[in-house]
Amino acid sequence: MTDIKTLDPVAERVQQDLDSLAEIRDPGAAGWTRTVFSEPYRASRDWVRRRMTEAGLTVHADGAGNLVGVLPGRNPSAPALVTGSHTDTVEGGGRFDGIVGVLGSLEVVRQLREHDLGLNRDLLVVDFLGEESNDYGLSCLGSRSLAGELTTEDLDRRDLRGVSLAERYLGFGLDPSEVLASAARFARRDLHRYVELHVEQGPVLEERGAAIGVVTAIAAIRRLVATFTGRPDHAGTRPMGDRHDALVAAAEAVLAVRQEGCGAPVHGVATTSRIDSDPGSPNVVPGLVRMYAEMRSVDTGWLTDAQRRLATEIERKAAGHGVDVDLTWSLDNERVGTSQSVHEVVGHAADAIGATWEPVPSGATHDAVHIARLCPMGMIFVPSRDGRSHCPEEWTDIADVVTGIQVHAATLIALDRLPDDAA
Ligand SMILES: [Zn+2]
Repeated sequence: MTDIKTLDPVAERVQQDLDSLAEIRDPGAAGWTRTVFSEPYRASRDWVRRRMTEAGLTVHADGAGNLVGVLPGRNPSAPALVTGSHTDTVEGGGRFDGIVGVLGSLEVVRQLREHDLGLNRDLLVVDFLGEESNDYGLSCLGSRSLAGELTTEDLDRRDLRGVSLAERYLGFGLDPSEVLASAARFARRDLHRYVELHVEQGPVLEERGAAIGVVTAIAAIRRLVATFTGRPDHAGTRPMGDRHDALVAAAEAVLAVRQEGCGAPVHGVATTSRIDSDPGSPNVVPGLVRMYAEMRSVDTGWLTDAQRRLATEIERKAAGHGVDVDLTWSLDNERVGTSQSVHEVVGHAADAIGATWEPVPSGATHDAVHIARLCPMGMIFVPSRDGRSHCPEEWTDIADVVTGIQVHAATLIALDRLPDDAA
């Protein structure tokens, strides 16, 4: 293992960047809202672009809407080192998710330049477009495009108002055919390693008193849309024993989903997020209900078994209520393991800095899932207070952010020296 070089990030500078970016948000929405394709997002990315340039990066926006800042290395033909994250937020979100990775990487670049620590390889710092799930049920738009995983069918998806994803790209000044072509262009560039700094968004690091999480794998996500078809009847006259109540069948399914999550052996969660009931009037027994749920785990064996058990249970309970059910499953992303070589470097970097660390799985999805298709990847987590995320209370102390940036910097320097062929 190569020697680890440590740097001292300037906390005030990072804090100032976090504060400045937090000011650019939707004033009409709760928390710190900057959703993809929105005006506040557009304004924030102009700010990010300026900040990248000020840090010393040569910045361009690729055809997929990603902001790419390049710090040229001594050997421009060597496979490049890549880092990055995202600066969009969920509606009512916080100030750290994704943002710590982008702004933390800018501090690393400033440190490298101030200490005259030129890298051998080009370093690419990417602010990926729209990482959070959007109206089209698609997360990680930018990294998905670069990995060649965004399809023409995806561009044809429509939101509730009938506007297609392609139209949203156009409205944001991006040509949909260029978005699709961006993967081929990006693939021409050889990539060495990808590492992403991110807030944990869960409680494990805080509970264990660890400063750093070295991510072992990112969970697979299976989504379920269940449609319950019963029979609408007069709620005042239809006897209780002679009903085909679709909402009661769905309620049983909600509990079954929760039951599966609670029974996960190591890491697994299961959530029902939405139920739409028709006709929804107070005097009608619900005849048609649609329910949306998901299960996540880094253990795909458990996930497959849980999916089968859950399907059987939902169908059995629905039949007991005289309700038909149709289950449609989809895979949001497969389980993605992190690279052993990146994992080792991050662990060594944390040790060299004297930061306590724990190996942790990620239940949240990240841009790293898609970039893993292009090169070996790893992730560095810093603690989230009370494990809160995707809410205004999301918080990571600046001291923890700085420790994360230190480990991130040492990791990038060590990965730069790692030979091309090291697995
Ligand atoms: Zn994120």
